[in-house]
Amino acid sequence: MLYAVLFIFSVSLLFSIAYFLLSSSLERRDHQVIEHKISEYTLMERNNGIKALLHELRIEDTHNELIGFFVRVVHPGHQTVFVTMPREWKGVNPGQVPLGLHKNGQWVRYEKPGDDDRLEITGRRLSNGYFLQVGADSEVREDLLERFLGISAVIGLPVLVLGLAGGLFVSFRALRPLKDLIQTIKNVDMGQMDARVPPSQTGDELDELTALFNGMLAKIQALIQGMRETLDNVAHDLRTPATRLRGTVELALETGIDVQTLREALMDCAEESERISTVLNTLMDLSEVEAGMMQLERKEVDLAEIISQVVELYEYVAEEKAISIEVSHQQKMFAHVDHNRIRQALANILDNAVKYTPEKGQIRVETGQTDREFLIHIQDNGIGIHGSELPRIFDRLFRGDKSRSQRGLGLGLSIVRAFIEAHNGRILVDSHPGRGTRFTVCLPKDA
Ligand code: ADP
Repeated sequence: MLYAVLFIFSVSLLFSIAYFLLSSSLERRDHQVIEHKISEYTLMERNNGIKALLHELRIEDTHNELIGFFVRVVHPGHQTVFVTMPREWKGVNPGQVPLGLHKNGQWVRYEKPGDDDRLEITGRRLSNGYFLQVGADSEVREDLLERFLGISAVIGLPVLVLGLAGGLFVSFRALRPLKDLIQTIKNVDMGQMDARVPPSQTGDELDELTALFNGMLAKIQALIQGMRETLDNVAHDLRTPATRLRGTVELALETGIDVQTLREALMDCAEESERISTVLNTLMDLSEVEAGMMQLERKEVDLAEIISQVVELYEYVAEEKAISIEVSHQQKMFAHVDHNRIRQALANILDNAVKYTPEKGQIRVETGQTDREFLIHIQDNGIGIHGSELPRIFDRLFRGDKSRSQRGLGLGLSIVRAFIEAHNGRILVDSHPGRGTRFTVCLPKDA
């Protein structure tokens, strides 16, 4: 509406200026004609005397040469010695037209009584005290200006209507994406998380905003979904040990008369609470990493040294399953890392390798490096991971179908990825079901 008002104002201003310029230039032209005539008569009177002028005026009058003009010559004693009126003014008494004797060279206006016709008259003093007035009707000029107004209305009205309609259309189009946006926000607010703003495909800034907004909504929806699943899984994972804990306590209370039974029950309780606190600690670690809050205690350490420690840790478990762990170090690999976190990450990978490799299997740990990274490969010839599960193995609480028979919380690899990424590193996996799995940890040298 504001733009419409501005538009109407501008158009009106434009026409008013045009009207004013046209009207003043027409007036100037009319005055020039009258002044030319009065100069001509004044010169004649000065050269040939008043009689010659009166004679000339009478001749011109009879020849209808003064038809559009008012001409009057006034005697110094105020009697009119010659007067003629324009044709349209014939019925008007010339005596009513003001003499304006004092207005030498100035303009006098006289309006026809009961009509809006107007005479514009100027006067000059002649020699011997005579006064000459010449004027003309401004009707032609007024007609022209009236026609100009008519044409302006004919042009201006459609321009205004078109302008207003165009303005309304443009503002409606410009506001539609915003209205869609508002509606979508309201829908999301009411819990409809899958509501999206329809794309306008215009390629403008609003379209970009729509795409960004939809992208953000999709991300939020995925996050909420992930949080719900995690919460469900955590609840499920905590409920089992908690139920077992209560079961053990109740059973011990009912039947445990001897010290040995009570002792065993207490040990079971300690084990279950250990499980619960491991889940909770791991989840806390994960959210710390995800929130970017994890403080790494970096030190210069030899990665080969950490590998040896981890392998040593698992040698006993591997031996029990007759699994061989082969280590081939290239050379010392000094990196600036958090010793404990890297050790835990490698331990989790090796733990899985031992867990998911059947008896008499083989595990190989190799190291290598590129210009930018240290590489640690941990390869087993175990059960492998199915292609459909591969993208999810690093998700929190995800456990493969074939792994359910083994102990585990589904948090090991999420921790691995979180710790490695906190070091700006990468973890890669390559696996073939039935043939084995190879994890590669890449740690940047300039960390
Ligand atoms: P889990 O506690 O189940 O071991 P992880 O997060 O450590 O949880 O691993 C997630 C899943 O990835 C496992 O359940 C398993 O299906 C699969 N996985 C991990 N490492 C291996 C491996 N070396 N061989 C086969 N499957 C593996």
